Amino acid sequence: MNDSHRAVYPLRGKRVWVAGHRGMVGGALVRRLASEGCEVQTAGRDGVDLRRQAEVDGWMADNRPQAVFIAAATVGGIYANDSRPAEFLYDNLVIAANIIEASRRTGVEKLLFLGSSCIYPRLAPQPMPEEALLTGPLEPTNEWYAVAKIAGLKLCQAYRKQYGADFISAQPTNLYGPGDTFDLEGSHVVPALLMKAHAAKVSGEHTLTVWGTGTPRREFLYVDDLADALVFLMGNYSGPIPLNIGTGDEVTIRELAQTVAEVVGFSGTLRFDTDKPDGTPRKLVDCRRLHALGWHHRTPLKEGLARAYAWYLDQAAATAGAGAG
Ligand code: GDP
Repeated sequence: MNDSHRAVYPLRGKRVWVAGHRGMVGGALVRRLASEGCEVQTAGRDGVDLRRQAEVDGWMADNRPQAVFIAAATVGGIYANDSRPAEFLYDNLVIAANIIEASRRTGVEKLLFLGSSCIYPRLAPQPMPEEALLTGPLEPTNEWYAVAKIAGLKLCQAYRKQYGADFISAQPTNLYGPGDTFDLEGSHVVPALLMKAHAAKVSGEHTLTVWGTGTPRREFLYVDDLADALVFLMGNYSGPIPLNIGTGDEVTIRELAQTVAEVVGFSGTLRFDTDKPDGTPRKLVDCRRLHALGWHHRTPLKEGLARAYAWYLDQAAATAGAGAG
């Protein structure tokens, strides 16, 4: 990478808006920014519907953020993406367009838009380099979300080119951790397997059902590591290339299910439901650019899974307590 793409933008003392603070990534960003000495701004969903340009404009005019992280999105796993295509495409397109345009108009100094590794073609070379973008057809089960995310990062490039705006974007690999969506139909694989393994352990079942063949390969990044990478990029990267954020390690879904079973303490057997889709066969991002800038992930998969499981148990206990009271 060209060295001129390196810039220093310290967040200390700045008004920093985390759009989407209630989500898993936004929540992790708020936790991470607490030690940056900045003023963290958040907008409640009841106050601002990010799908409405006028509401976004009004909020930004009132709050004047200097830096913006766009972590707001309509998200979900393979089933949710495939069954709610209109919401995944519309919501994510307009959220990106509204915030990016309002940021230009209000003179935001720096903006980071969060993409997703599903922006890459289904059969992209693995690991997927940033150059693989728009070189082939997308994975059909999540193309709606992917098209919206591609539009968002293209907006950042276009605003940089036309207006000289310092808007950057980055696409993380598959994420997991505290704040994840834990529901069986809409979840990504990690929360779904944690829930299923826990339920099987508690009820004494002997099998854990895993969707697909177990052979797809995925890379998983702990969400607090992602937040650390995003803060790092906000401070140290300025350029048109949307950067990959990952770990460089991958596991098969079978290996993931085995590790989940160990973490949860489920000792039965795995059953593979091949009526369910596998999705893309392999998804690993090439993070050489990010590594060259000096950032590396910290949390090993098993440790991250244990923390995500602990968070899930806490939530479940809190919900049960609330229900009982
Ligand atoms: P993807 O990475 O966009 O394909 O999204 P997911 O996290 O939903 O799925 C990743 C892989 O895990 C796919 O091959 C799924 O078939 C597989 N998988 C196995 N069991 C489950 C499950 O219970 N829920 C989900 N969502 N995926 C599962």
